[in-house]
Amino acid sequence: MKITFFSTQPYDRRFFNHSNSTFSFDLEYLDTALNEQTVGLIRNADVVCAFVNDSINADVLRLMREKGVRILALRCAGFNNVDLKAARENDIRVVRVPAYSPHAVAEHAVAMIMTLNRKTHKAYNRIREQNFSLEGLLGFDLYGKTIGVVGTGNIGKAFCSIMKGFGCRVLAYDIRPDSELTTSGVEYVSLETLLRQSEVVSLHTPLTNDTRHLVNESSISLMKEGAMLINTSRGGLIDTKAVIKALKSGRIGALGIDVYEQEEKLFFRDLSETIIEDDVIARLMSFPNVLVTAHQGFFTREALTQIANTTLANIRELSFTGKCGNEVQS
Ligand code: NAD
Repeated sequence: MKITFFSTQPYDRRFFNHSNSTFSFDLEYLDTALNEQTVGLIRNADVVCAFVNDSINADVLRLMREKGVRILALRCAGFNNVDLKAARENDIRVVRVPAYSPHAVAEHAVAMIMTLNRKTHKAYNRIREQNFSLEGLLGFDLYGKTIGVVGTGNIGKAFCSIMKGFGCRVLAYDIRPDSELTTSGVEYVSLETLLRQSEVVSLHTPLTNDTRHLVNESSISLMKEGAMLINTSRGGLIDTKAVIKALKSGRIGALGIDVYEQEEKLFFRDLSETIIEDDVIARLMSFPNVLVTAHQGFFTREALTQIANTTLANIRELSFTGKCGNEVQS
């Protein structure tokens, strides 16, 4: 059985080759992203394996079907980039990796909070230039602060538990509250209360029609003056232009983003010799209180191992039994 991978990096190949020693699929790796222009590269593949910034719309799915592809295996949790209705119409089954290491992303969100708060990135550069001054590095104790967690699924839950460990008061908002979290002392409140009371707001919901631009001009106006906003989920959760306005006014005191609305044109590539045309990200990168990382929340050894193992196991299960617990239902 042949699997064609799109958007691969050297590390994908290392982890999938290692995992494939127990599956023995025929793996073909392509660097390019999957979209209408590149779908023609598929040759005799039964399965296509795609990632977060591949654009799997109705046209791509129709062309995939014409080429005989029966399974779309996402090597990620989110599936907002797939037209599920078109997948069903073209009889292409979609599987994903719902939980590979929620800790990887939750810990990255915490790393962003710690960096923005204690400014270790600035200290690192200063010390290398023999500047031992502390001026400008002032932070705050996280202990006792109120942290708002929007979305308490796998990642949000892991994040809540780390924040409880820091001695924070944790407020949460989710359409499906988790009773285990309530028992552990997390308080479920309305989104409005969460935004009004939290010193740090961290987003952990998927991108859906309901969550798109969840952080917008009106929700930002509810936030505490100078609050920190962290987004390790999907760029579309934030109206970036509204956030830039709030950074300028000081309403948002710090921003940490591992995801960005237009990231497919930028992330996972070395563009250091290129003129960036996206003025919005350029503006974001110019703020001293903004930290941008390029979708690396998932990037741990444990997560990549789990992603490779689960993706290949999903394909085997679906092709041999016709069923898979990790199938995305449309
Ligand atoms: P999950 O499905 O376990 O949890 C999502 C939670 O969001 C659920 O509890 C759900 O009830 C809640 N939710 C859904 N719609 C909501 C709404 N309208 N309002 C409030 N809550 C809502 O997902 P997860 O594994 O925790 O992942 C969360 C997201 O993190 C993924 O969808 C993906 O976009 C992102 N992610 C990012 C990275 C990264 O590398 N930065 C890696 C993995 C996942």
